[in-house]
Amino acid sequence: MKKIIVANWKMNPLTEREAVRIARAEDKNNVVIVPPFPFLGAVRGVLKNASLGAQDAFFEEKGAYTGEVSSAMLKKFGVRYAIVGHSERRRLGESDEMIAKKAKAGVDAGLKVILCVGEPMDIRRRGRNAAGAFIRKQLSRVKRSKSLIVAYEPIWAIGTGKNADPEEAAYVADVIRKMLHVPVLYGGSTNSRNAKSFLEKKEITGLLVGGASIDPKEFKKMAVIARDI
Ligand code: PEP
Repeated sequence: MKKIIVANWKMNPLTEREAVRIARAEDKNNVVIVPPFPFLGAVRGVLKNASLGAQDAFFEEKGAYTGEVSSAMLKKFGVRYAIVGHSERRRLGESDEMIAKKAKAGVDAGLKVILCVGEPMDIRRRGRNAAGAFIRKQLSRVKRSKSLIVAYEPIWAIGTGKNADPEEAAYVADVIRKMLHVPVLYGGSTNSRNAKSFLEKKEITGLLVGGASIDPKEFKKMAVIARDI
């Protein structure tokens, strides 16, 4: 599988105009752009090469679920990928059970699901075996699927400037691949300076990029590294 690079814009930028500007600049073949919900339509309108993703997707198809957006709606809207279980959502109370349900609903609706997992610092301090066990537990309710991708994102590495050691990320990616036979992305403080060290690992199929993804200059460099590796 070719290496991919996913731009998780999180709750950025503030305006549709700015979203369109960034999307145009990041519109490359091996890229998935994941804007906030209000900008999905505008970004869809300008993408010629990149795929469109959503930052979350609910597990029910439709009904009385105020504030939620379903995988089926997203699929019909032209979205190809959905992130579920990002640690910023787990922090708001999402459980492994809920995330597994979201992943299943996304796959059933025809989306490619990027399911995020990752250990906190106190687990990482106990070493790679403890981290591996923690990740296996987070994935214990998840069903294998050809449409599933797992993103390994250590919580302590997200938005902190402290990326994981690529060897350790590759070790956890291997644990996940052996368990579910799915591609694994790494996420956590990646940038154009460290992207290659992760992308050159055979266990790592791509990057989930947060902060650097709203800096088109930086992100484009990362996309070129992913394409050429
Ligand atoms: C993320 O939000 O998924 C992420 C990896 O963020 P950052 O690249 O900023 O650490």
